[in-house]
Amino acid sequence: MPKKKKKSKYRFFTWYNILIFILILLVIGFGSGMGLFLYYVKDAPDFDPSKLKPSETSMVLDKNGEVIAELHGEQNRIPVPIEQVPKNLINAFIAIEDQYFYSHRGINIRSIIGSFATNLMHGGIRRGASTITQQLVKTAFLSPEQTWKRKAQEAWLAIQLERHYTKDEILEFYLNQIYFGHSAYGVESAANTYFGKSVDKLSLAESAMLAGVTKGPEYYSPYSNFERAKERQEVILNTMAELGFISEEEARNAKNEELNLKGLKQAAADYKAPYFTDYVIQELATLFQKELGISESDAYNKIYTEGLEIYTTVDMKIQEAAEQVLADPENYPYSKNDESEIVQPQAAAVIIDHHTGHIKALVGGREHYRKLGFNRASQAFRQPGSTFKPIIVYTAAVDMGYTAGTVIDDSPVSYSAGSGGVWSPKNYTNDFKGLTTIRKAVADSVNIIAIKVFSEIGVDRGIEYAQKLGINNLVLTGDKNDRQLSAALGGITKGVTPLELASSFGTLANEGIHAEPVAILKVVDKNGRTIFENKPEQTSAVSKQVAFIVTDMLRSVVREGTGWRLADFPFQVAGKTGTTSDDKDVWWVAYTPHLTGVVWMGHDEPTYMRNVAGGFQPALMWKQIMTVAHQDLPAKQFERPEGIVGPIEICIDSGKIPTELCKRDPRGHRTRGEYFIRGTQPTEHCDIHVEDFIDTSTGLLATEFCPEELVERTVFIKRNEPYTPSPTGQIPLDAKYELPEEYCDVHDSEPVIAPPDEDDFYDWLNDNINDWFNENNNNNGNNNGNGKNENDNGQNNDVENNHRRHNR
Ligand SMILES: [Zn+2]
Ligand SMILES: [Zn+2]
Repeated sequence: MPKKKKKSKYRFFTWYNILIFILILLVIGFGSGMGLFLYYVKDAPDFDPSKLKPSETSMVLDKNGEVIAELHGEQNRIPVPIEQVPKNLINAFIAIEDQYFYSHRGINIRSIIGSFATNLMHGGIRRGASTITQQLVKTAFLSPEQTWKRKAQEAWLAIQLERHYTKDEILEFYLNQIYFGHSAYGVESAANTYFGKSVDKLSLAESAMLAGVTKGPEYYSPYSNFERAKERQEVILNTMAELGFISEEEARNAKNEELNLKGLKQAAADYKAPYFTDYVIQELATLFQKELGISESDAYNKIYTEGLEIYTTVDMKIQEAAEQVLADPENYPYSKNDESEIVQPQAAAVIIDHHTGHIKALVGGREHYRKLGFNRASQAFRQPGSTFKPIIVYTAAVDMGYTAGTVIDDSPVSYSAGSGGVWSPKNYTNDFKGLTTIRKAVADSVNIIAIKVFSEIGVDRGIEYAQKLGINNLVLTGDKNDRQLSAALGGITKGVTPLELASSFGTLANEGIHAEPVAILKVVDKNGRTIFENKPEQTSAVSKQVAFIVTDMLRSVVREGTGWRLADFPFQVAGKTGTTSDDKDVWWVAYTPHLTGVVWMGHDEPTYMRNVAGGFQPALMWKQIMTVAHQDLPAKQFERPEGIVGPIEICIDSGKIPTELCKRDPRGHRTRGEYFIRGTQPTEHCDIHVEDFIDTSTGLLATEFCPEELVERTVFIKRNEPYTPSPTGQIPLDAKYELPEEYCDVHDSEPVIAPPDEDDFYDWLNDNINDWFNENNNNNGNNNGNGKNENDNGQNNDVENNHRRHNR
């Protein structure tokens, strides 16, 4: 019977049975746990107090295996007796790290059970519940790997330690041992690093901030992120008050106390290639955290105390050249100190071998102020400006069938900017050039064309290519994100680091294959065992042919565009300038067949700079560094892959096969040779260049009434799509070469030979006054702009007069 059956099932799962079952599980669990514990601690390292002063020096080696830096905690450790450590600092540590320090015997059962449960729920070991004693044991005796075995040994040794030493002795070991970031070990060194004073002089507020740093020494460093460090300081002060170490009022006062950090400026590092070495240490710490699942502070301990050999890619010849170039005040438009006594503007440079991704040189500032301090080459996110155009617009466009010869109208355009607003982008030159090839638009850094093409290919498509090329920090979601047309001009949410920008250009240099930037080749432990070896990651971003076309356009930047200062460099150079709005960031990023390099210049706090341009100071710094870098390199050219045709002659106003008219344009030959990916070359003849009969006295189409001697056959351009004047009335500069639409209205009957009438005379006078003074004449109602001054010399006049004609 179904009912009965059901009942029996219930009986099996009575609460009583479940309880018994759980109890059995617990007994088995506890028994095997203990067994495992004993098994693990059996081969725990010996308890050896002399090991409490540990540390073996790690070495950083350059590409030739020469030592460039020795890393060890000892040199940055100044031991102090516990009596010198302020009570508040000790209490701050106890409050945040180990509230039961004075009562437990090395381990804290309650928090172990708590963390065990958390860890089980999350699978694996996520958070420790280490007592101060355990933390000391871990850094002093054990390697930092997080395994159950390690945990068991740590607990065992902590109990041993408590049996041999007093609480004060343990605290003293601990406070002199732990890592505080910026290569400072121990409280005395930390007090110096952060507040420029001895530990016994620390205030309550300062003590609480120091105690907060050790959980994530670079992450919680007030130099890395003051807000974050301050938040943690307040948590600690609150806890101290809760535990009765301080009064509520003391906590409040300490929170309000102004913290005077010593500032970034400090004695320079005692190692070579300081910014590169800093980058290596930080990369390795990140790598250890990821690969070994250890905490940030354990990762740094591993680097500073385990006697590692760290093989890197740096080329000291290039590195030192780059350091000297960036340090030289001659290379800056001006130099002045900011509030923190740091000279501004600052700069950063990265040189990469794009074939392998190996970082040959990396310099994160004019001077090196502090170990593991702010590294502008890898940590400064800045607006890339126009350097972004080839990365987010043109590479994708060429892959989608646009060519270097594709013609786009550099004419006024407006886009809706959300919530009813309108965005009318502008060019740096504040004019519109009219019909322009993409090659010319790249060379002259024309904003309008970058935006129009970006809009045509689709913002998401452009973003996809930028990411493939090596840009990792685009923001794609949220209220403020990079899926905007302004990203074409490098107006992006977070910005790029010099390193990732160099890397993305390196992909174009490496024929479309992206090689992740690499600084660390291999890490060997003190026993000679290789514990990490870099397997270079290479991915195909675009085809060789696409890379070649973009590279060739970027060569035009140097040969005929904004990068002209590199025109005499003895190797081929493909590059791009970048200048952000208000001249807050200036960039030069460029590659030769051998190396890719970037130089950025700007204030740490983005600020207008006078007399700067990407093609100026950064380009000249790049040149100095690359001259040294290329000293012994063989002659080499960018390789032209199969599947490229050309040069093929095209009309630069239509992008099509030129006709005889293209060569009779009043501006001269409107043709040039262009390379194409086979299949994308033009097949049609130019339809932009046209000719017609013009009355030369009016500049309008001649009628049958115009006197023969005034009528001439003239070549014009005739846009397929008419331009729209900008809201302020600007029109493209080539509009004056456009075929007029109107017919001459002066000669509207049989030709008569008569002196010009009075109105005509005033017109003539007006136009010529304009010419003479070469200035705008916006409000002259008498001027009917009859187009007579087509060939005048003032650009502004041209625009104005043509505008009037257009509107007539
Ligand atoms: Zn043409
Ligand atoms: Zn006429």
